[in-house]
Amino acid sequence: MIIAIDGPAASGKGTLARRIAQKFGLTYLDTGSLYRAVAASLLAAGGNPADEAAAAAAARDVVPGSIDEATLRRDDIGQAASVVAAQPAVRQALLDTQRRIARTGSGAVLDGRDIGTVVCPDADVKLFVQAEPEVRAERRYRELSERGQTANYDNVLRDLRERDARDRERAQAPLKPADDAHLLDTSKLDIEAAFRAAVDIIERHNET
Ligand code: C5P
Repeated sequence: MIIAIDGPAASGKGTLARRIAQKFGLTYLDTGSLYRAVAASLLAAGGNPADEAAAAAAARDVVPGSIDEATLRRDDIGQAASVVAAQPAVRQALLDTQRRIARTGSGAVLDGRDIGTVVCPDADVKLFVQAEPEVRAERRYRELSERGQTANYDNVLRDLRERDARDRERAQAPLKPADDAHLLDTSKLDIEAAFRAAVDIIERHNET
């Protein structure tokens, strides 16, 4: 079984995807971490995220899991990731790795922006997780504060809107729900309620 979970930043899709993978005994792949790793290795080498040739070379060399989590989660890395992610050569370089992992064992849960539309258009279940920008910014702000990073809510909201716009408006694989995706709005749901709603959708699918 392949489950595709797409949605904007801080929509709750990562936490949901991890828990769904655990419940159904599936491999989990956070595809955003691949784009983040490309951005992080490029910046560490003094490269410019807007340089498509350099970004594509970094994408071809990327080793999943090779960069520490604290670096990957930084906000500047998230912004740079959305710049490298707009480049077709970068997306192409990461496509095979994602599809290979999707086919591992009894299946996988992949979360990202284009899983249901491009990476796994034949996924068994597709979820598009969304939430109001202010709710997502609040979540991200709390997450950063809990990690001891200095954060300002207004800057977090501005950065999030900027990243959303870049992800939605790019020409290649823009962030959008697949035609056959189930929409799940988590604005008013806590993680437990969102998880139950997602499991209901998957179990309903498995019964048919
Ligand atoms: O999900 P996360 O916030 O970690 O993703 C970082 C960036 O990577 C996103 O803003 C997006 O530009 C890019 N991304 C993508 N396609 C995916 C996953 C992430 O373009 N499947």
